[in-house]
Amino acid sequence: MADGFTIAIDGPAAAGKGTVSKAVAEYFGFAHLDTGLLYRAVGAKVLAGRDALDAARTLVVEDLEDDSLRTPDVAQAASKVAVIAEVRAALLDFQRSFAARSGGAVLDGRDIGTVICPHARVKLFVTASAEIRAQRRFAELSGRGITDSFETVLADVKARDARDMERVEAPLKPADDATIIDTSRLTIDQAVAAAVAAVQAAGGQKA
Ligand code: C5P
Repeated sequence: MADGFTIAIDGPAAAGKGTVSKAVAEYFGFAHLDTGLLYRAVGAKVLAGRDALDAARTLVVEDLEDDSLRTPDVAQAASKVAVIAEVRAALLDFQRSFAARSGGAVLDGRDIGTVICPHARVKLFVTASAEIRAQRRFAELSGRGITDSFETVLADVKARDARDMERVEAPLKPADDATIIDTSRLTIDQAVAAAVAAVQAAGGQKA
């Protein structure tokens, strides 16, 4: 039943899509791919002096396991390499193969429902206001000892939104058939419940 059942979860930075995606994957027993890590891994290599396209073409799964990919600098670098069409193309096959794996898959990112998996069985667009997203990211970064001010975090969120939404190649936007989940006023449990309900409504069952 779960074979080839793909759940596409898109949305802007810090809307809660990572948390929702992990919880949905766990609930249904599906594999999960955070596709932002692919762009972060390429961005990190560019910060280290590598060519973006070369880095994308030679990326290996181990590159995704690096804890340093979760820093604000790498996030900005990721959204810069993500505007390059050839970089996106180099990362396409890996994502599509992951989506097609047996046992079901959840992929989260910016263009999963629109470009990577346009035939996904379920498409969710998880969003929240820029201010709320910046508050959440600020709390998360503070908890990890990163001392950026709230204003800096908000400016970063807005800069990344603009770059992700205004780019020509696979811009961030909900697929026409996506279910929108606005988490601005939802707890994590409520957001996860809304996502699980949408998957069940589309016929999703535990693997
Ligand atoms: O989701 P995350 O914040 O880790 O993504 C980092 C950056 O990677 C995003 O701001 C976006 O520019 C890029 N990205 C993308 N397409 C995806 C996932 C991430 O362009 N599917």
